[in-house]
Amino acid sequence: MLAIFDERQFLHRPLTRIAGGMLKPNPEQPERITALLAGLEMAAVAVQPPREHPFDAIAAMHDAGYLDFLRTGFEAWRALPGTGPELRSSVHPSRHMGRLPSDLLGRAGFYQADASCVLVEGTWEAARASANTALDAMVRVLAGEAAAYALCRPPGHHAYRDQAGGFCYLNNTAIAANWAASQGQRVAVVDVDVHHGNGTQALFYDRRDVLTVSVHGDPAWLYPYYAGYADETGTGPGEGFNLNLPVALKSGSEAYLAAVSKGCEAVRRFSPDVLVIALGLDASSDDPFACMDVDEAGFRKMGESLGALSRSTLIVQEGGYPSPTLGTLLAAFISGFTAGQAR
Ligand SMILES: [Zn+2]
Repeated sequence: MLAIFDERQFLHRPLTRIAGGMLKPNPEQPERITALLAGLEMAAVAVQPPREHPFDAIAAMHDAGYLDFLRTGFEAWRALPGTGPELRSSVHPSRHMGRLPSDLLGRAGFYQADASCVLVEGTWEAARASANTALDAMVRVLAGEAAAYALCRPPGHHAYRDQAGGFCYLNNTAIAANWAASQGQRVAVVDVDVHHGNGTQALFYDRRDVLTVSVHGDPAWLYPYYAGYADETGTGPGEGFNLNLPVALKSGSEAYLAAVSKGCEAVRRFSPDVLVIALGLDASSDDPFACMDVDEAGFRKMGESLGALSRSTLIVQEGGYPSPTLGTLLAAFISGFTAGQAR
């Protein structure tokens, strides 16, 4: 296996998020990268920088006005008097109104789904580098690499065509999957992050050339709350090509792995050319979000089940927040995946 990583991803340093009704430190920090790189070293996976790919592949999955907001919003914000170091809206279009206004704060509310996706000075550069990293890893997989890991940060799976959310700006997983599909590949995405891959689901909801599967904590009690239920199965030509497998919160490895196995069965039936694993490590009992109890052996087994699908595979890093075991869990997943692939 090969890993791709771009140093520009260190540039995004969000300060805060709102949790428990309070401003709290934002856990989606560059330090995650250091822990994940240590995990790659433990797993003896070599790391290379990505080559730069045309922006078209990113633009294909996102709205032009939204991309302009991400690119220019922070600078415009700082040019206004009395603004702070993070661009975060304090007003969002509710279900009763949905126009896109000209005002910057109004646009921020339109393009930001929640309080956890602030724009800071390095956000655009890091998000763009993160998407390019996933894309480069996918290019290598289609060129014959059996498996590649994209160390992507900020993560991507909560990002919609025109909306950031849950620490995500550009949907790295969807951008890579869509590019493979544009090359005539049949693609399956399996998202094992503890939070539902709502952005990825939405981006492929009406398509049958990309199967989307998500295993996650029950959204009745967990972010993103408004999507991720088992009855969301796709629409139009995409009907039957979206599978949600919510798991009760605080479940251990066994319940989570049973859902992953169900996801793997759906992938086998779909028979893709390429598998994309949206790898969140936040179902761990050690994760600061502490909403699931999957242990290190569980992550190894999860990797093994997905590796045993024996497909050309891109692994894209999604969530998983600073804890003493973050790197160890990545190494466990990769060693399980490699063992599964060799089976
Ligand atoms: Zn997550």
